[in-house]
Amino acid sequence: MITVDIRNIPEGECIALDGDLADDICQLPEKDAAMVAGSLKYRAEASIVSENLLFRGDFQLPFKFTCCRCNQPFLYTVRLLDHSILAPLENLSLIDLTDALREDIILALPDFPRCNKGDNQMDCPARGKFQTEESFVPINPEKEQTKDSTSWDTLDKLKLD
Ligand SMILES: [Zn+2]
Repeated sequence: MITVDIRNIPEGECIALDGDLADDICQLPEKDAAMVAGSLKYRAEASIVSENLLFRGDFQLPFKFTCCRCNQPFLYTVRLLDHSILAPLENLSLIDLTDALREDIILALPDFPRCNKGDNQMDCPARGKFQTEESFVPINPEKEQTKDSTSWDTLDKLKLD
């Protein structure tokens, strides 16, 4: 659980909080394509903004996926950078941010995980097979993008919400 005791936040100020949380906050079903593969690391600042707790910073959690093309397992770390979580105070002194963070992390998981987009950028055997065919013309424009652009697009969309 990630909780913030708002009694520790001086009025009009923010406090820095960081941590390395070994608990599996995602609690994904065992047969899910994604499995949590490490601890949740975060470095954030907590402040009170009107009747809400604002928790803003960087969060990262590694997952193990299976490539949707070649079926090999690979690691992919979900990173939420400069990410904001806003939670209503509701007259509580201890605010639990676990549910909000879990939701944001799960939203950031790739729909079609591919090993060449993972942390180690593995050489996907299924991908290579297509590329060596000279007559093959990619119909998926995503292939033309740089390797990081899709994950950044996802993050950008999340921030707009
Ligand atoms: Zn693959």
